Amino acid sequence: MGKSVIILSEDEIALVRESSLLVGRTLAEVARHIAPGITTGKLDAIAEEFIRDHGAVPGFKGLYGCPSTLLTSVNEQVVHGLPDDRPLQDGDIASVDCGVLMNGFYGDSAYTFCVGEVASETSELLHATRECLALGIEQAVEHNRTGDIGFAIQQHAERKGYGVVRELVGHGVGRKLHEAPEVPNYGKRGHGVRLKSGMALAIEPMINMGVKEVKQMSDGWTVVTKDGKPSAHFEHTVVVRAGKAEVLSTFQYIEDVLEKKGELITKG
Ligand code: MG
Ligand code: MG
Repeated sequence: MGKSVIILSEDEIALVRESSLLVGRTLAEVARHIAPGITTGKLDAIAEEFIRDHGAVPGFKGLYGCPSTLLTSVNEQVVHGLPDDRPLQDGDIASVDCGVLMNGFYGDSAYTFCVGEVASETSELLHATRECLALGIEQAVEHNRTGDIGFAIQQHAERKGYGVVRELVGHGVGRKLHEAPEVPNYGKRGHGVRLKSGMALAIEPMINMGVKEVKQMSDGWTVVTKDGKPSAHFEHTVVVRAGKAEVLSTFQYIEDVLEKKGELITKG
């Protein structure tokens, strides 16, 4: 992660927006295919083909040794799950995290999907995590600090009795997938790095139904909740502006697909 915060020009922001929109369209392809019986490995192949067909390259693949285009985290998996040959089951939730690199700039976004019918307490967790993301984005305005984002997310999640993951955080986005600053999903108002117009940030609450503690599996990638309860993850790439952040990625393409499938359970 670079040390100094990068301020993007409007031309550069436009490129991050293009990459971020392609992530949204890629996740909509995932939305089209996700169902009980499909494997995360198959979803990964679909996503990679879609990204390459659009003149971009998968943003994660090869980065830090990542073997895949998507990171797919099912149920108690928080983030960084690796696509595999296990079919998704009715009642699962799957966080699908995707990055693309196009024209030298990254976009990064994640959405937690329901597979078939999920328990109502699980859909409540997804809904609350969406709210956390929206509340975090509200704070991504000039002169605020990263702690304002984290505080808003943490407050909302903990008020509902959920655990906020500490070990993994949001980040700057630009010519590298992970730029400064770190954007924790917890924090204190008025603390942290000061936000400036033109900073692109990935805001990505990871909210656990149970305890906040997580552990890493022996594959060196997959992070799971310590208590085995489900975890949700939604992420947008945004750019800090005066007054109101601009969201560069979008869930609209995903939601159009889910709505048609009758599977839309939470909206931002
Ligand atoms: Mg991501
Ligand atoms: Mg990210």
